[in-house]
Amino acid sequence: MTDVPPETDAFLLRLREFHSDYFPRHQQRFQDLAARGQQPKTLFIGCSDSRLVPYLLTGAGPGDLFIVRNVGALVPPWDGSHGLHGTTAAIEFAVLSLRVEHIVVCGHSHCGAVRAAYEGAPAEALNLHNWLRLMDEALLPVQASPEALARTGQRSVVLQLERLLNYPMVRREVEARRLRLHGWHYVIELGEVHIFDARLGRFVPAEQAGHSGDEPIPAPTILA
Ligand SMILES: [Zn+2]
Repeated sequence: MTDVPPETDAFLLRLREFHSDYFPRHQQRFQDLAARGQQPKTLFIGCSDSRLVPYLLTGAGPGDLFIVRNVGALVPPWDGSHGLHGTTAAIEFAVLSLRVEHIVVCGHSHCGAVRAAYEGAPAEALNLHNWLRLMDEALLPVQASPEALARTGQRSVVLQLERLLNYPMVRREVEARRLRLHGWHYVIELGEVHIFDARLGRFVPAEQAGHSGDEPIPAPTILA
């Protein structure tokens, strides 16, 4: 195996750049976080899509977000019936150990997971096929038009919020008003996050919304 010349290894160049350029300007922040540990207030559950950039959307920096990302921003059932899952473990850790005050579930427009839920995953992708079933209840009995895909993406966010409320520790903290749930749908081409408003029963663009997510939602109802 031949070594890649360092000057053509893009990752290596960026790692060096991070250390020599970015890090010195934020050194104190990183050292404080290393010394005192992380105390993020937010668990961000987002789709793995490369176009969704949680730090840009929220203006967050190091130490602010505890992030778990997966295909479709899906939440498995707490009872373990869906097998071993890192997302479930991350939710338990964030709520019970980090004691986060917010959980954001963030889907987005043009989501490949939503499309695959209608059109199917590659035959060899057995785990993906099974995983996407977590979106089943959000699917509409229609052709996968752009409008249907967008609505399904929003319905899926609400479905995941409902599933989160079946986690005993999430429900307990929400009912005690120590934890708020936020359902977001990011429209890539508009640079706009739409926020689920349980009282209105619909998503509202952030520009017009009165809040970034509901006060504790006892039982959100999935969009019609
Ligand atoms: Zn996606």
